[in-house]
Amino acid sequence: MNAVSVISIGNELLSGQCLDTNRAWLGEQLSLAGLNVVSGFAVSDEISAIEESIAHATAQANIVLITGGIGPTDDDLTRDAVAKFLGVELEFRQELYAGIEDFFAKRNYPMVQKNRVQAYIPAGAKSLRNAVGTAPGFIVTKNAVTIAVMPGVPSEMKLMFSNEILPQIIDKAGKNVVVTKRIKCYGIGESNLNETLGDMLKRGQNPLINCTVNQGVITLHVVANSNDKKTAQEMIANKISQLQSLIGKFIFGYDNETLEGVLGKELQSRGKTIALAESCTGGLIAKLLTDLPGASDFFQCGWVTYSNAAKNRLLGVDAKLLEEKGAVSREVALEMAKGALERSCADVAVAVTGIAGPGGGSEEKPVGLVYIALVSSEKTFVEEFNFPPNREVCRLRTAQKAIAMVRKVFLATV
Ligand code: AMP
Ligand code: MG
Repeated sequence: MNAVSVISIGNELLSGQCLDTNRAWLGEQLSLAGLNVVSGFAVSDEISAIEESIAHATAQANIVLITGGIGPTDDDLTRDAVAKFLGVELEFRQELYAGIEDFFAKRNYPMVQKNRVQAYIPAGAKSLRNAVGTAPGFIVTKNAVTIAVMPGVPSEMKLMFSNEILPQIIDKAGKNVVVTKRIKCYGIGESNLNETLGDMLKRGQNPLINCTVNQGVITLHVVANSNDKKTAQEMIANKISQLQSLIGKFIFGYDNETLEGVLGKELQSRGKTIALAESCTGGLIAKLLTDLPGASDFFQCGWVTYSNAAKNRLLGVDAKLLEEKGAVSREVALEMAKGALERSCADVAVAVTGIAGPGGGSEEKPVGLVYIALVSSEKTFVEEFNFPPNREVCRLRTAQKAIAMVRKVFLATV
């Protein structure tokens, strides 16, 4: 089976001044094209380091894609390193030189001699057209390993990869097809999920399941390899039905779906609308919901009531209740939600109040304590949460829980 390794070259990638977006983009494109990416490296602008990384990559992969280090400056050493690795000389190519001259002439820029180095590529390599810049790429095959070199500038690299390289390596890839489906889960921790799934995450299986976690959402990447797309898709469908039976209640969507996006669609399809009364989230839930196109179909309005006075005046929360129970309490959360429902014509209202920190916590009411209330004509529900004592995390978790609560408590019964 074909295996691809991606090498990104440049000191700026190691010092953190420039994010290695080339490798991320290539990884995605290669996976979409059904190619198996087995490794990736970022390497400094040194001939020996580049050469070593190529040796390493060719031990793991039969297709090595390199970006960066083919500009005209003294720190652009990829050409030299590849030639050295292959044990060949760099060769001057008149047609490439003419192309570079033409690039400058068309733009009315003077061409300096420094650009001449870009007309050299390793002997035996085939040049690759750069439609938008001066640096030509090149591709060469030795001992059944193909090495393709592209510019570091993302826009130049993307065009060269899509137009010149992908068609060639897809041919090489023969019949292998990789299909990936992402399954999005919420409401369960990683270790708990792994335990529930038993051996399903073990390595060396096809389909293979990879697990990632980001901001409280777990994504299971189900990757199937097969000779044809239909079989790969069937393998994925089987895996998904197994996953559904084990962790179905935690699965909220697939691929690029988000918690708020799924809620928006569900509210819309049922013709229901929502109103919000937010304290500690400062409007974050309203932002997440109104980021969705078509939000006016299901989003009525929201209040950001931060102070006690605002909770009292705008939502009608009893001043004495605020005094006695405190703004962060079950009772106040419920009154906020009731006030929002009465003052809107929404079908459901959700209120959140909590201590996001870093200050404001006490032994009795620590940072991270949050109450979320939901009120509709049928339901009155309030729940206490203890989120991590970090302002950003606490606010985001509160928003996610509020969204999940609408689905679980309200939508499940309408
Ligand atoms: P180079 O082809 O090495 O001269 O790179 C030109 C420019 O492209 C660099 O200065 C970076 O701004 C950008 N660049 C190079 N490599 C990458 C990469 N892996 N990801 C994103 N940008 C890159
Ligand atoms: Mg560079």
